[in-house]
Amino acid sequence: MRRLWIVILCVIVVTLTAFGASAAVTDVVVVGSGAAGLAAALEARQNGAEVILLEKMPYIGGTTRVAGGGLCAAGVDLQLKAGITEDSPEVHARDMLTLGQYRNDPELVRTVTYNAKHAVDWIRANGVELEDEVVSYMTTYPRIYWCKGRGFGLAEGLAKACREAGVRIDLETRAVKLVQEDGAIVGVIARKANGDEVAYQAKKGVVLATGGFGENQDLFSEYAPELVGIRTNNPKGVATGDGILMAREVGAKLVDMELGRIVPMGVAIGQGAWTSAPVALLTEGGVLVNKKGQLFLKDEQDRDLAVAILAQPDHTGYLFFDGTVLQKVGEDSLARIRDGGALVQGSFEDVAAKFGIDAQGLQDAAKKAGLKAPYYAIAIEPYIHSTTGGLAINTLAQVLDEKGDIIPGLFAAGEVTGGIQGADQKNALIDCLVFGRIAGRNAAQGH
Ligand SMILES: Cc1cc2nc3c(=O)[nH]c(=O)nc-3n(C[C@H](O)[C@H](O)[C@H](O)COP(=O)(O)OP(=O)(O)OC[C@H]3O[C@@H](n4cnc5c(N)ncnc54)[C@H](O)[C@@H]3O)c2cc1C
Repeated sequence: MRRLWIVILCVIVVTLTAFGASAAVTDVVVVGSGAAGLAAALEARQNGAEVILLEKMPYIGGTTRVAGGGLCAAGVDLQLKAGITEDSPEVHARDMLTLGQYRNDPELVRTVTYNAKHAVDWIRANGVELEDEVVSYMTTYPRIYWCKGRGFGLAEGLAKACREAGVRIDLETRAVKLVQEDGAIVGVIARKANGDEVAYQAKKGVVLATGGFGENQDLFSEYAPELVGIRTNNPKGVATGDGILMAREVGAKLVDMELGRIVPMGVAIGQGAWTSAPVALLTEGGVLVNKKGQLFLKDEQDRDLAVAILAQPDHTGYLFFDGTVLQKVGEDSLARIRDGGALVQGSFEDVAAKFGIDAQGLQDAAKKAGLKAPYYAIAIEPYIHSTTGGLAINTLAQVLDEKGDIIPGLFAAGEVTGGIQGADQKNALIDCLVFGRIAGRNAAQGH
């Protein structure tokens, strides 16, 4: 039966060629060159498969490229060297489930945590270096290691290993459709930057590693309408949700599409430079006002606060505070914000003029909140850091359909998948590496 599918794809390839499109035949096609796609491609190649990796952008790395590069794993030598011996994959799994608010699938979570150390050892064996430290961030024990060069170093290191191993990387090549025959995925149709279509036949499997959908407003309308208008701090043009859409077209099940990590108190100018200062300033007595100078919600957290800010004109709120509040948090906390131009300091007229806020309203807000001149204000806009919903997969990284059956030939890893992070994303990169490897290995074996 598989031979029949391959014959049919060959017919498609021949037809496309006849219409001027080119074609390529390989064992495994990987779509996306972030941590998940690069890990899948390298692992598939190391398991004997011919691999072509497609990347729509002119550069490799996607969101991984701008990531902090923190990897979570229990039992890595750096952890043992630091004297931390009580940690284990099971404790790590419990931390992941707690962070994910138990919205994540325990079996998938344990697949990550029990394979995490091996994934860290594997990237090091393939040329990615780690800083000589282990840190803690909301975990029972310190178990985070930083890649040298952060996310950029991770992506570049894996891409180098892929190229040296013989993986072909086609940049500016956007996968637009999965080719399905008798239920199985046998290839991909992609579009080049000049508009030419190319058919890629995958004799063994296709791995989707296209990242998240933080930039896809249509998907927010469908699954989380309260977040429509929210922007993302991911690199522009990357997190478009293509893999989710392509797989949905062939019957894939989607899970947790309403979940993700939202930064409610993002600094509106200079997206991406995350800082905890706005939250601290709000906690210490700052208030949020809108363009009319009206005070709005102060005490809500995370998603509720993001939704409240998104409901304001221009999807923006203004964090308004004075010198007393600033003293409690510390002048230094403003350094990154000041550089980005999102901060104003002066009379309420200065603040109103800078951001186009109603001056009378602002004066009333200052009075109500007990703030005194000179005033400070920061333009605040919530943003999506990561989406954690996506394609349903099993522990072999096989994509599942609505009935829970596998879609033969189709694998997925990384932010394109759902069910692993739940309501959080602090284990995202290790998830990408573990499931990328699993997807690559199984695709290479034609499972
Ligand atoms: C600022 C920031 C810091 C972060 N820091 C950390 C951290 O320290 N630790 C951590 O664990 N997580 C971190 N994260 C989250 C983590 O970086 C991401 O979840 C992870 O990088 C996603 O990797 P990925 O391989 O799934 O997707 P990506 O890295 O986004 O790669 C997907 C690739 O697929 C390509 N693509 C998409 N559609 C197509 C298509 N149709 N055809 C061809 N190519 C396509 C994209 O262009 C992209 O290159 C951070 C996120 C951000 C935004």
